[in-house]
Amino acid sequence: MAFRSGSELSGLLRAAEQGQATERRRLQKLLRLEANERDALFRAACELRRRHFGNRIFLYGFLYLSTYCRNDCRFCFYRRSNALCHRYRKSREEVLEASGRLAASGVHLLDLTLSEDPILYGREGFGSLVRLTAEVRRATGLPLMVSPGVAPAAVLGELARAGADWYACYQETHSRPLFRRLRPGQSYSRRMRAKRAARKLGLLLEEGVLCGVGERPRDLARSIRAMAALGAEQVRAMSFVPHEGIPLASRYSGDREGELAAIAVLRLAFPDRLIPASLDVDGLKGLERRLAAGANVVTSLIPPGQGLAGVAQSALDIEEGRRTPEEVKEVLERCGLEPASRAEYAAWLEARKREARCA
Ligand code: SF4
Repeated sequence: MAFRSGSELSGLLRAAEQGQATERRRLQKLLRLEANERDALFRAACELRRRHFGNRIFLYGFLYLSTYCRNDCRFCFYRRSNALCHRYRKSREEVLEASGRLAASGVHLLDLTLSEDPILYGREGFGSLVRLTAEVRRATGLPLMVSPGVAPAAVLGELARAGADWYACYQETHSRPLFRRLRPGQSYSRRMRAKRAARKLGLLLEEGVLCGVGERPRDLARSIRAMAALGAEQVRAMSFVPHEGIPLASRYSGDREGELAAIAVLRLAFPDRLIPASLDVDGLKGLERRLAAGANVVTSLIPPGQGLAGVAQSALDIEEGRRTPEEVKEVLERCGLEPASRAEYAAWLEARKREARCA
């Protein structure tokens, strides 16, 4: 959408800087900006990041513990019916070893992610994951995010008591018709209820949207408002990446403009929250653009040599050792940014938890 004048765009960005960005029409206008208007959007997003976080960036290690899934999401490489993806379940020993390596590399948090593994959701239950969460916490002392899918509230409570700080569960869209197309057979409401339950249990929440799967600006605006209503402390926008063996395999997804605009608009709507720049879509070479859109967390750092996969890109940059803090630091330096200290991340976490308890 072209603005009639530069001052109309400036007015919109000023309103966002004053905390009025989650109004539906404003969001839609910002999400419809044309390419030549986006520089101003990115500058405003980076300025807001600077005000709230200075030049500090957080780094998240990522451990994909199981790639077996009971679901058949149409956008996902690891969907149940895809025979072309490599399936694994990491043993306790493998997880502890990889966690130790990531901790030693200097990340601020470990993200323990699983597909909705039929074993956990079936005969075995979540006991092994709860025990493993406690062990990783004890062994590394690092804050933890858990992403086990739509787990029952009782399990989320056990994970919180075992040492998890965060629950990540992405709706991917907050348009119910699009959700039904993307996640056949799954309940939109149940997924949202799990997140509300997690908040009540004292877990911080990461919510996310997928870009390039048929969403319109008004759907993204709805997602941003839903994230605000949930009180999510970390909000992510990520591009869909096509893979062989999935129904959306032929969908074009080379253009990251939608994701970058969404990251910047998220920064305007959530100036003091965490917004990821994921290495999972374009690897290290895509990091600079995402930081320039206002992101302040580098996610999906994965140690090489452990047979670990990414989610959107199962192998990109992993065994080449390009998803490591060392490599990321060079990019941060080029952007005038630097990794936060662990104490800075811990202080942010504690402050958010205090606020969440009072909310
Ligand atoms: S998005 Fe998650 S729940 Fe859906 S198929 Fe992939 S791993 Fe399973």
